[in-house]
Amino acid sequence: MKEPTLFDYRDVVGPGIIEELTILASYLAGRSIKMVSSTKVGGGVAEILHRIVPLLNELGIETTWDVIKRDEAFFTITKRFHNALQGYKDHFNKALLDAYMAYNEKNNAELDFDEDLIVIHDPQPLALINWHQKRNNKWVWRCHIDLSHPHSHLWRFLKPFVEKYDAAIFSSPLFSPELTIPQYRFHPTIDPLADKNKELDAAYIDSVLMHYGIPRDKPIVTQISRYDPWKDPVGVIQAFKMARKYVDCRLLLVGDKATDDPETESMLKLVRAEARDDPDIHILLFNPSKATEINAFQRASNIVMQKSLREGFALTVSEALWKRRPMIGSAAGGIPAQIIDGYTGLLVHSTEGAGLGIRWLINQPDFAQQLGENGHQRVKANFLITKHLKRYLLLLLSLDNQRKHTIFLS
Ligand code: UDP
Repeated sequence: MKEPTLFDYRDVVGPGIIEELTILASYLAGRSIKMVSSTKVGGGVAEILHRIVPLLNELGIETTWDVIKRDEAFFTITKRFHNALQGYKDHFNKALLDAYMAYNEKNNAELDFDEDLIVIHDPQPLALINWHQKRNNKWVWRCHIDLSHPHSHLWRFLKPFVEKYDAAIFSSPLFSPELTIPQYRFHPTIDPLADKNKELDAAYIDSVLMHYGIPRDKPIVTQISRYDPWKDPVGVIQAFKMARKYVDCRLLLVGDKATDDPETESMLKLVRAEARDDPDIHILLFNPSKATEINAFQRASNIVMQKSLREGFALTVSEALWKRRPMIGSAAGGIPAQIIDGYTGLLVHSTEGAGLGIRWLINQPDFAQQLGENGHQRVKANFLITKHLKRYLLLLLSLDNQRKHTIFLS
């Protein structure tokens, strides 16, 4: 199918927004951006870049996306980095930090960085800046993870690299660390016209559920997330079991394997052990998943959960809200920016709270429906891809005339 063009978004966000983007882009004609990340498949960063890159190109900003070369050993190191930056205890010896630097040095030798703006996503390729301290272009570090409780030793190692950049972008003011460089806040966003979010026929949704053997005889509670401890799939099962003592329902856990995630298998073992062959708990693993099927699972759900313990943003929340689904999300990271408790969903602080939320929403379908409707409006105003494009354009403009303090672009 043909990818949507900018023009197609007029019907969703209104022609004024598209006109605004075109005018802003006209000041930036001929400029170029390179995005660098660690994977093309799986997870929110890949999801965003797949759509933002073609649309920036359509706006006349020549944008490319490179993925660093990686192997099992590098995945393991950087997953440990990721976990420690989100708060796990760990120990990083010199050999491990040297190995991280060696991978970055090797990737640096294989890539070129001639564009006007280089955007490095997340910690895996962060140290590439080390070989570009003298430069004629701008480098920005885009952090997508929850940096509210970083491992202090690791952060002391990484922070000097961050401060070599011209600026850093965080998803929430909650994670903005003290830095000597300017900071920007970008909320991640979803693409309403992508296969993941577009409208679907009821018949297609039915066929997907039937294909995976999920009966629609009772309310469906769903969490769609990589099998990762921070997404707390085990906690979701426990909350479901608490609720099911009072209300009949099914649980659907859907996850795919990001190519850079070595932890999936061990997490799945814990999830299956907690589910104990319960016929009302459906556990699906994809490698990778199909966007329209994920869309169908979200649309078929009576409640969507995102019970993360740490969370950069959780695109899954905006995806479900856009589909007017009642959401239960934990008060972690970027989730409270999307879920206003009692208005666009329920925010919970514990497994018990999540269980109670499931009961409450199943027993009060009108209230649940209103939450979904309000959620849709919130996403429309704040978390659609057109907003993200505007931020990249404003970033390019503002880096020309950089101020030395924190800037939140609206
Ligand atoms: N996703 C998917 N298939 C899955 C699990 C997740 O397509 O089996 C998508 C999900 O719909 C969302 C992205 O992967 O678009 C996950 O982004 P999020 O910000 O929620 O979490 P991350 O994985 O980046 O921590």
